[in-house]
Amino acid sequence: MTFYITPQDELHVEYQGIALTCPHCQTLSHLTPIAVPRFDELSARRPKHLGVVFRCDACSEPIFLKFTVKAYTALRVELAPNYAQIERARENFPLTYLPEEAEGLFKEALSCYAASCFNAFGSMSRRTAQSLFRDLGERGKLQLFDTLQEIRLLAELDDQTFARLRAVLFGSDADPWPHQPDLDAKDAGILLEVMRDLLYQTFVRKARLVQAVTFRKFVAPPSQAEAG
Ligand SMILES: [Zn+2]
Repeated sequence: MTFYITPQDELHVEYQGIALTCPHCQTLSHLTPIAVPRFDELSARRPKHLGVVFRCDACSEPIFLKFTVKAYTALRVELAPNYAQIERARENFPLTYLPEEAEGLFKEALSCYAASCFNAFGSMSRRTAQSLFRDLGERGKLQLFDTLQEIRLLAELDDQTFARLRAVLFGSDADPWPHQPDLDAKDAGILLEVMRDLLYQTFVRKARLVQAVTFRKFVAPPSQAEAG
């Protein structure tokens, strides 16, 4: 995608324009630029980065994006194709099924992710995992590892990605430095999906099954002996 600002102070966006999940209304929506920096001022000061305020076409709330300037020419201020989203949509996650401590830790992990602090997200995910291991014991830890292996197969994760996820979640703080790998936006996105599935398989699915089974027991017809 190509972005540039014209001498008429208009932001030109190629193709479909910008669409993202709005942090205010959580809908995947198109954005309309409403405050673009002035071409004259940019050309005079030549900053390396600039910010544009957009309006969410679904809810009209403001969304701020930061761009890196690629080049200043007489006719356009050219921007790099990737932009930084200052405020991200919160991830929806049924946290109430988690043990209390893990719930608090993972909530903070999600806040780190929403703020694009990906290594902080990794560290808080490890603390969440450590809290779960304490809660579930050695057998529970092994089961979590099996679930991670299953996710690896289902999601067709490559060896390198899997090794990084394993190091984040199952590595020990006593491992030689650096005991946690560096995570970029892509790694963190994969870790988020893996955590979502791991926690779903371990807690949400179980809690829903227990609920359903309890309900079935309650409404089950009397057995032959009882009906006797
Ligand atoms: Zn919106």
